Amino acid sequence: MAMAMKLRFLPNYEHRFTSAPKACRSSPVKLSIKNQVQSQRLQKKKRRPENVAGEFFVDHTCIDCDTCRWMAPEVFSRVDGLSAVSKHPSCQDERLKALQVQKTFPIPINMDKIPGVYHCGYHSDKSYGAASYLIVHPQGNILIDSPKYTERLARNIEDMGGAQYMFLTHKDDVADHKKWSDRFGCKRILHSTEVQDITEDVEMKLDGCGPWSLNDDIQLIHTPGHTEGSVCLLYKPLKVLFTGDHLAIEEDSELSLSEEYNFYSVPVQLESVAKLLEVDFEWMLPGHGRRVVHKDIEEKNSSLKAFLASK
Ligand SMILES: [Zn+2]
Repeated sequence: MAMAMKLRFLPNYEHRFTSAPKACRSSPVKLSIKNQVQSQRLQKKKRRPENVAGEFFVDHTCIDCDTCRWMAPEVFSRVDGLSAVSKHPSCQDERLKALQVQKTFPIPINMDKIPGVYHCGYHSDKSYGAASYLIVHPQGNILIDSPKYTERLARNIEDMGGAQYMFLTHKDDVADHKKWSDRFGCKRILHSTEVQDITEDVEMKLDGCGPWSLNDDIQLIHTPGHTEGSVCLLYKPLKVLFTGDHLAIEEDSELSLSEEYNFYSVPVQLESVAKLLEVDFEWMLPGHGRRVVHKDIEEKNSSLKAFLASK
């Protein structure tokens, strides 16, 4: 009976099951399911026909997270709603960037200007493809939001000192948080209003409106709006603000709140954007969308003011 219940959610296989009701553990039914799942996996690994011919390609596992397009815009573009290779790397630098998209995470964002800040890659569909980051910090590294758990990435982060904290900006981008916590013993931080069943056991729950401090040089800033308990992380010495899904720029270079994906209140989110006028940062590293770097705080503030005035 248990197997029948399970198969009810797999309509493709139901007919096979009903035609072989005495199926047991070693039945052809189970083997058939396994073969079909494997076949679907193989199909997903095939190149999308939208790629130009050549060595590099995007396969059907693409979730349109935009990462390859902002990391190597010379190589990748959006075709029919997903990424594809539109032009093959024409020099060593482009080739390296295209390879980085696939393999060598965590990679530094900008070693000269913000040393110790890395993009973790391995975007998870459980986090809707959001980017996650790593701060290599003298008092213990901090993961910001959760990448997909893979052994390769875990070993790479381990070589960089592991992680002491995993700061979760909000409930959407938590992906494999538990696996990372189990692997590194890192304390997970999440606002209490964002806690759901899957995050019930996070070690540090933030209450109220903050701000909260982590070490001497990190501030956690309550920025409700996208969700009730969204929080941004400010790494003060490097003037980097990790915004989660609070604020980013889109492919067209416009600041955006992602209003179509608002889960709490757009007016409240706008108030939270106004709050950032008081915050000293130049870099903005979001979960979704593109990174922003401002020349100085004046430029950052005029950009935020222009955005708020347009709303
Ligand atoms: Zn979100």
